[in-house]
Amino acid sequence: MVSVNIDKDPHFRRIIVNEDKCTKCQLCIPSCPSAAFSDLNLFTYEADLCFGCSNCLEYCPYDALDFENWSASNPLELNRLFLLGASAFEIHLGSDLEALENFYLKLNLNSVKLESFSIGSEKMTDDELAESAIFIVNMTREQANFKDRLIIIQCDGIPQSGARLSNNSAKDLKSIHNADLVLKTLKKNNLLLPNIFVQIAGGIDDKSLAKAHALGVEIHGVAIGSWLRKKILELDMAEAKGLCKKIINQSKANAKKTETQKLKIASSSKNLAVQK
Ligand code: SF4
Ligand code: SF4
Repeated sequence: MVSVNIDKDPHFRRIIVNEDKCTKCQLCIPSCPSAAFSDLNLFTYEADLCFGCSNCLEYCPYDALDFENWSASNPLELNRLFLLGASAFEIHLGSDLEALENFYLKLNLNSVKLESFSIGSEKMTDDELAESAIFIVNMTREQANFKDRLIIIQCDGIPQSGARLSNNSAKDLKSIHNADLVLKTLKKNNLLLPNIFVQIAGGIDDKSLAKAHALGVEIHGVAIGSWLRKKILELDMAEAKGLCKKIINQSKANAKKTETQKLKIASSSKNLAVQK
């Protein structure tokens, strides 16, 4: 899966330490779920470990931490990755749907099997969210071999805050709300097609899927980031490997189940068409 960025997105940023302001007080070290800061000899920061969660910002009393945003991705580079064998991508977009279309229409989708579109940043209104979902389905269904690809609409809530708000059981309600809105919008417009799936991300933990279903929001899946990263960091290497293996096996089983459901839906729609 290749992640690309169309707009300013919190997934595509990382911390920079302002050396003029940093006193090396080390107060930020425990705040980072990916151990980007360390005090092995002297205070150090490893930028490659930063995933942009923003936890550390409030820990620095000297205003020495700030974000740098990565620039928007280039569709031609993504096409090169398809040639090298990549078959899945996720696009993080904002409310600029023209930018999305300009990017998407330059892609060579021949070998692509899975497309994911992340929508619902905190800045988007419900109307913008609904408009984006309709736009994405209409845009993707106009392309050749649409039915051969799986399309995920990922409804983001509060970006990458699972670690920071780990004691807040309501942290995933924003993404569940967004998914509810997207599912209702797509259903109302007859756009919840057999290869369209809706999942949630942002503040997700092991209970979020069941919580969404209990609220009557029939999402197809969840994307777990910060919460799981934090759990894995608490384990030793053997336990972490075991957990990853378990997750991969469960994901494979879920994918198989989804594929069977998809075939069933496709075959029942075909039967309905024949009966008509
Ligand atoms: S706490 Fe989050 S934003 Fe800060 S350095 Fe660590 S990963 Fe990056
Ligand atoms: S808390 Fe701020 S000043 Fe202290 S080490 Fe971290 S970045 Fe530097």
